[in-house]
Amino acid sequence: MRVLLVNAHPDDVEFTCASTCKQMVDLGWEVYEILMTSDEYGTVRDDFKGERIRRIRKNEMVEAAKVYGINEDGTPKIKLIWFGEIDGHLRFNREVFLRLKNMVIDINPDIIIGPDSFYSMDLHPDHKHTGWLIYLLVQSLEPKKRPTLLLYHSFNTNFYIEIKNIKIQVEAWSKHRSQTRPIFNKILVPLRRLFYFLRRIKTGPIIAEGFRKVDFSREENLIKNTLHKIVYYIFATEMDGPDRYHPTPEELGLFPQK
Ligand SMILES: [Zn+2]
Repeated sequence: MRVLLVNAHPDDVEFTCASTCKQMVDLGWEVYEILMTSDEYGTVRDDFKGERIRRIRKNEMVEAAKVYGINEDGTPKIKLIWFGEIDGHLRFNREVFLRLKNMVIDINPDIIIGPDSFYSMDLHPDHKHTGWLIYLLVQSLEPKKRPTLLLYHSFNTNFYIEIKNIKIQVEAWSKHRSQTRPIFNKILVPLRRLFYFLRRIKTGPIIAEGFRKVDFSREENLIKNTLHKIVYYIFATEMDGPDRYHPTPEELGLFPQK
């Protein structure tokens, strides 16, 4: 089996499907991960924004990926691919769509995992654009050739994978050292346990990572249920504003890479 994760930022896996990812690596599946951006704004310090934090975040991502399993030569089993869009400014256009589509066709995965941009618990613009891109991209393939598409960040989950090792998430997350502190790592495990415990309303006796498995039926992304509408409204109005993304990419000398 070949799996492709498409994430907006380094560390998105750690917060959404770390256990699933670990199980896939352990099964010997080939796991690819496309990172759409390199977290160029992943710091509160203006003097680190841009090239400097990008270098740090790329190194931290490699260390985090190693937690899921390493090859004999010490490299992570997960194959990381840096797409080259800019954090907070991920473009949703034809050029990006076609380049991503070509990458997906080359990798030819059986399963794609990425963010849900429709029933989404996280409508950060980069997540939203990544979710739209992968949804439209898989939809544009011939139905018989479409990989299974599983979406995380979804509040309308219908597909669950049991969590075998809840600690893997924090083990990997702690490698993103510029983003966390040991004290946060300590409180993260009980917080995640609580989250997964609450989700047992849907998953019964097990704790599980939840996804929305899409079937590309008409209207599957239309939010009709009133509760879902309220949830969507809350998440849609609570996401990152533009404040975090100053100075501008141009001021930092950043341009999308190819
Ligand atoms: Zn993210």
